[in-house]
Amino acid sequence: MISKDINLAVQHLNKNGIIGFPTETVYGLAGNAYETSAIHKIFEVKKRPTFNPLIVHIKGIEDLTQVAQDIPPIAYELANEFWPGPLTLILKKQPHIPDLVTANQDTVAVRIPNHSIALELLNKLNYPLVAPSANPFTSISPTSAKHVEEYFSTQIDMVLDGGICTAGIESTIVGFNNNKVVLYRLGAIPVEAIEKITGTLVVPNKKESKPITPGMFLKHYAPKTDFILTRNVKEEMDWYSDKKIGLLLFNRHEANLDTKYQRLLSEEGDLEIAASKLYDVLHQLDKLNLDVIIAERFPEYGLGNSINDRLERAAKKENNITNDLTTENGF
Ligand code: AMP
Ligand code: MG
Repeated sequence: MISKDINLAVQHLNKNGIIGFPTETVYGLAGNAYETSAIHKIFEVKKRPTFNPLIVHIKGIEDLTQVAQDIPPIAYELANEFWPGPLTLILKKQPHIPDLVTANQDTVAVRIPNHSIALELLNKLNYPLVAPSANPFTSISPTSAKHVEEYFSTQIDMVLDGGICTAGIESTIVGFNNNKVVLYRLGAIPVEAIEKITGTLVVPNKKESKPITPGMFLKHYAPKTDFILTRNVKEEMDWYSDKKIGLLLFNRHEANLDTKYQRLLSEEGDLEIAASKLYDVLHQLDKLNLDVIIAERFPEYGLGNSINDRLERAAKKENNITNDLTTENGF
């Protein structure tokens, strides 16, 4: 059930229920971060492997020490700059954070969402919320209440409607290691903005990097339709000329294909707008009964890199769940 009733959401959460939860990035599947029964339900409904840790959402920076300890000054600098907002920090956890949240690690992922309804809800609770994205493991992330309802209508207590997500892709995740700031996942805050504060971010080595995060899985965010990412859309269109093709493009249409099978992420060529529309457009294209979706590679700076990261994972055929961090750039 989709509803705007925040008090009803509070009632469900207080009874250890789980709800669809609006944030500026994507919709989360939220439950009490201190209640293992609620957290178990989240893993079950998402079919998410339990070795994948969850992000804890807090209502204000004053609550950070309730979930994390030994917080380095650079973490506070980043929090002061980007919170509330789509930056997740990996910090040493407080002992009472359930192992299920952190996948038995001694670190916890935490952020403050920049969404008025999410914050209003968190302010009515006396616990933080864990909220992974509200999609089945590896499928397209939800950016509207309707997307969540389509995935989980009968399995969750309600979807709290907070409109369309404004950022539209997941948070950027960074951690701290021996005075270095480590980039774990590209996301809604461009790396360049973080590096203004931290200097050059460290990218974990593919083989060594731990923990394994779902955002790092080879296949993720994937439509059901075959999906191809390319620098040369025309060439791929020729290759698939006998197929029913859909196109996901940045800012201009391709000739030789009915525009009803084409989606532009931003006619104005604005990467922020493009990121905000990415998942909704993937949902739309996936419903057109196409044989193949061909996506154009985005410009390789700012949010273009985050968009390309999601498109690369959407294009992967198999999900190798072991240590399979993706491709060239090591994410
Ligand atoms: P989701 O909310 O589905 O986008 O997933 C949350 C992301 O945060 C996943 O990629 C998690 O693996 C990552 N994450 C959560 N906790 C940690 C942690 N302690 N260390 C590294 N990554 C984490
Ligand atoms: Mg996710």
